[in-house]
Amino acid sequence: MIDQSTIDRIYETAQIVEVVGDFVTLKRRGANYTGLCPFHNEKTPSFSVSPSKGIYKCFGCGKGGNAVNFIMEHEGLSYYEALKYLARKYNIPIIEKEATSDDLALKNERESLLVVTAFAGRFFHQTLLTTDEGRSIGLSYFRERGIRDDMIDKFQLGYAPDNRRAFTETALKGGYKPEFLLKAGLISEKEGHHYDRFTGRVIFPIHSLAGQVIAFGGRTLSTDKNIAKYINSPESEIYHKSKTLYGIFQAKKAISQYDKCYLVEGYTDVISLHQAGIENVVASSGTSLTVDQIRLIKRFTNNVTIVYDGDAAGIKAALRGIDMVLEEGLNVKVILLPEGEDPDSFCRSHPPAEVTKFFQDNETDFVLFKTHLLIKEAQTDPIKKATLISDIVQSIAVIPDPIIRSVYVKECAALLKTGEQLLYSQIIQFRRKYFEKKIPLQHVEAYGVTSESSNIHVPQAVANPFETNERELVRLLLNYGNHILFQGNHPNSSEQWIITVAQYIISEVLKDELTFQHPIYKIIFAEYARYYFNDSEMALEYFVRHPNPEVTTVVSDLISKKDVISKKLFARYTDNLIETEEMKLQDLVPSVVMDFKNKKALALLNQMIEQLKEAQEQNDEGKISMLSAHIQHLNQIKRTFAISLGNRTIYP
Ligand code: ATP
Ligand code: MN
Repeated sequence: MIDQSTIDRIYETAQIVEVVGDFVTLKRRGANYTGLCPFHNEKTPSFSVSPSKGIYKCFGCGKGGNAVNFIMEHEGLSYYEALKYLARKYNIPIIEKEATSDDLALKNERESLLVVTAFAGRFFHQTLLTTDEGRSIGLSYFRERGIRDDMIDKFQLGYAPDNRRAFTETALKGGYKPEFLLKAGLISEKEGHHYDRFTGRVIFPIHSLAGQVIAFGGRTLSTDKNIAKYINSPESEIYHKSKTLYGIFQAKKAISQYDKCYLVEGYTDVISLHQAGIENVVASSGTSLTVDQIRLIKRFTNNVTIVYDGDAAGIKAALRGIDMVLEEGLNVKVILLPEGEDPDSFCRSHPPAEVTKFFQDNETDFVLFKTHLLIKEAQTDPIKKATLISDIVQSIAVIPDPIIRSVYVKECAALLKTGEQLLYSQIIQFRRKYFEKKIPLQHVEAYGVTSESSNIHVPQAVANPFETNERELVRLLLNYGNHILFQGNHPNSSEQWIITVAQYIISEVLKDELTFQHPIYKIIFAEYARYYFNDSEMALEYFVRHPNPEVTTVVSDLISKKDVISKKLFARYTDNLIETEEMKLQDLVPSVVMDFKNKKALALLNQMIEQLKEAQEQNDEGKISMLSAHIQHLNQIKRTFAISLGNRTIYP
């Protein structure tokens, strides 16, 4: 943990232009800098850096944030790691916050484990390269497999001697504690004695995103069927199998660069593909893919291509897990290798150029791939067609983007020789059930205002009819919160009164208990309001430096788009957009508040009318009269709104 004053110092010292400039060639344009976006492929620059606001924003792919966010995104680091990176860059000594004894114990355990695994990694690698046994057995095995020396270096491959004391003795002599060697699964204990766990195996170290060795896989060189072919490190404080992808450290740059990630099964597949020049590849190593692994990939790209071994049995089993990837909003493609080949064997039997060409030519869209595959089956069994359709509908229905869904509906309807309408109606049914199950409302509500963690997962895709209003209110708060909206003199005195934009919006929203639904806008509003009541002025920096990256992304977006409304309203003054909006605040802010209230009131009104109908059907006299009174009241409010809003349309 880094203490707050150090964090502040890092933010103050880190110049966004310098930080980004390490990775992107920036050109000055007016007050800002522009360059080619490092997060997506582009030929004309749409990536912009604002030194005065301390943020970057890509108008092409939408990515944006502060200097810390940039390092997180670009280097694939956690919030904490990114802060440390910047502290190193600017020579800022890190003062660790006084942690609780629990924090400390956990941190010490993590660090001790990392020290031990780093040591073991070096030991295995050195053994492979410098000892007689390592060279004659381990190294010659890798060479026989066609693995080149540069790959041995890149993946830090190693060898564990065929001797149950070799590692243990070196480690204990070096002062490494048995406690941590045991927890890391490097040694085992029997009747008070310690023994090596990896013996006579070649070693594949598993690296974290940041490149630390966190675990090992060891492959036996024995052909004895009774010996497990692979053994792996156990779960520990530093190694969570379900959150790790083999090769992510070596692949992350290439994944961003090519905006694509290939997914294969194992260690040797990853290494062989690297050797063939395909470096954007990771493996899920023995487990079926997890949501955490998908999210890890999603930090670098939205495009995943799964490479399947070419045997039919495996494919069908693997298909099931893929809906989860679609659900995360990733675009999934599939490459099917020729019968009997896995990526490793395919790379060994084909020259690199052919591998690349095969990958390019044989990539098919997952949903269409699945449809084709299932059609083949259904052809021989006509009764299967209904199951087939609902199976495909399920895959399409979980895709978050409605446009992509509609493209699939078109294509699959044609393939299945069925109407689009039928698919749509099934998709709607499925999505309704799915959302009820997936995102219980209280989860969104309970999400509340906690922002302490930088890793809060925010539920997405909750239908929110007020989203535009909520966004506008938050945008106005962030951009103009401290601006004076109205001012005047108190009657009978010379004292002035002022109402700021923040004061107006916050009091109006709270007065009528208009809750926000959008999880991020809700956090921003609630935190803004909380600070507003404690302090007098809210500094924008607070949000630009917010610990939750989803908040900083939204904030960067909102403060770099001051002109969304004015563009439509005041197109004539295009030269002077910002000033124009500022000048119009007196009109704009009350209109936005009013429109929000109006919509809320209408929604409430409709809800009550529904309830009234129900009450009438049930002849519930008490309920009917209560609801009628409410409805009458709401209708009154509606009329007032209609008058004050006039005929203005305030949203583009
Ligand atoms: P072979 O030379 O017989 O092909 P291999 O080392 O390539 O052996 P495979 O049986 O082909 O191993 O498995 C492919 C990949 O699957 C391996 O590279 C490995 O990463 C992964 N794998 C297989 N079994 C395990 C296991 N028990 N735990 C973790 N990963 C495994
Ligand atoms: Mn193999």
